[in-house]
Amino acid sequence: MNGKVYLIGAGPGDPALITVRGLELIRSCEIVVYDYLANPRLLDEARDDAEIIYVGKKGGAHTLPQEKINELLVRKAGEGKNIARLKGGDPYVFGRGGEEAEELISAGVEFEVVPGVTAGVAAAAYAGIPVTHRSCTSTMAFITGHEDPTKDESAIQWDKIATGIGTLVFYMGVKNLPHIVSNLIKGGRSAKTPVALVRWGTTSIQQTWTGTLETIVEIAEMEKVAPPSLIIVGEVVTLREKLNWFESRPLFGRHILVTRARAQASGFLSRLEELGAAALEFPTIKTVEPESWDALDRAIDSAGSYDWLIFTSVNAVSYLLKRLKDTGRDIRGLAGPAVCAIGKKTAEAVANLGIQVSLVPDEFRAEGILAKIGDVKGKKILIPRAEQAREVLPKVLAEQGAEVDVVTAYRTVQPETRKDEALELARGGRDMMVTFTSSSTVTNFVSMFTEAELKEIQGKVKVASIGPITSDTARQAGFTVDVEPAEYTIDGLVEAIVAFNGAR
Ligand code: SAH
Repeated sequence: MNGKVYLIGAGPGDPALITVRGLELIRSCEIVVYDYLANPRLLDEARDDAEIIYVGKKGGAHTLPQEKINELLVRKAGEGKNIARLKGGDPYVFGRGGEEAEELISAGVEFEVVPGVTAGVAAAAYAGIPVTHRSCTSTMAFITGHEDPTKDESAIQWDKIATGIGTLVFYMGVKNLPHIVSNLIKGGRSAKTPVALVRWGTTSIQQTWTGTLETIVEIAEMEKVAPPSLIIVGEVVTLREKLNWFESRPLFGRHILVTRARAQASGFLSRLEELGAAALEFPTIKTVEPESWDALDRAIDSAGSYDWLIFTSVNAVSYLLKRLKDTGRDIRGLAGPAVCAIGKKTAEAVANLGIQVSLVPDEFRAEGILAKIGDVKGKKILIPRAEQAREVLPKVLAEQGAEVDVVTAYRTVQPETRKDEALELARGGRDMMVTFTSSSTVTNFVSMFTEAELKEIQGKVKVASIGPITSDTARQAGFTVDVEPAEYTIDGLVEAIVAFNGAR
């Protein structure tokens, strides 16, 4: 049986603007075929085993010509696979979705359309421009700006759209801007009509320029406005002065590198994004399973013989739990030892398992723990944790006469990062900040670059560090620290970054 093809509108750029149906299909289809304008972040949602095919077109440089795309869809569907065909914006608005659908029908392939949020509406809204407004316009048109200006017979009746329609939204029109403007004026539109250009609308690198039909060509030339951009013509453009919510967020236009491990980064990342930053996930450590589970398995099986079970991180808790589940063991097997959790987050993770935490030392250092845990002489203590963790705690406990078993619950390794993207940003003179949330994020970050690359980055970036210890490590590594919060937490750090940007 043939597979089915879903023509899905990926939305205008902000990956959160895809529809529920669209996302559902990306998550379930065996193949995802995507375009230049479909945000690649959406691909993270695809199945691990999904085949991902890029058929993008950038400007006129087609990766695959349209006939080949059509052929590909028909062929893959013929293999019985379901295909998510992702297109920027809405598939039927200047997206050649209609052609693809026709092709599928004639090849006997079943299809479904999932409309998307089109750029003409969304990029305008994110630029502070409602495409219609009762006080200035009751009509609008989406128009292709791609038409060859030297063509004798235009498919666009310029005189009619120039005077007959309130808001005009041109797609693919930047290159033809002079032609579009002169046609509108010739057609009878006032030269004083407001115009906006919106580039990469709804994304963290959105840029907007405004002028009038008289001035916009010069502005576009001076600012070197390039695709993908929309041209919005009409009185509604003036509403931007009041309604520009997106670009006025406190961190808009700032590129911020988040060096936390992926698992912990998402909260931080989304906070920064909500404040308008272009946050780049740049994990410097990632956790993976230990090479062998033997030691942990043995420890779990004899858990009842310990006096204390000490968790030093949320990771230790999650990997232990995962191991219990994967091997069909039961959390009750951990009954016996009192549980000590280091740090609030770790304690929360333990409590979420329904396990009582007997001790949460408020001080992270080994001495702090010793002071609270009491006499450990002759006590059996189990510490499941990272393979390469620091030796201080077990050493100090052993010195006090405890019998300490340290077992590996997980390892930390260096993940793949978008190192080139970071270098490109620094080189392109972008406003860029790197955040360090622990000393290890500093040392791991440093180890990813060559000495020359590091120098280059250090000369360009601002640095935000979570607290004095991390700042010291950063300074020793050659950074200048620009931001350090009074409260050494992620919330504190976010606040301090906002304040720093506000002060600039
Ligand atoms: N199907 C798409 C449009 C594809 S045509 C949709 O419904 O949005 C490609 C043109 O769309 C670009 O040349 C540009 O004019 C516009 N466009 C698409 N995404 C855009 C964005 N994020 N910002 C500004 N313009 C965009």
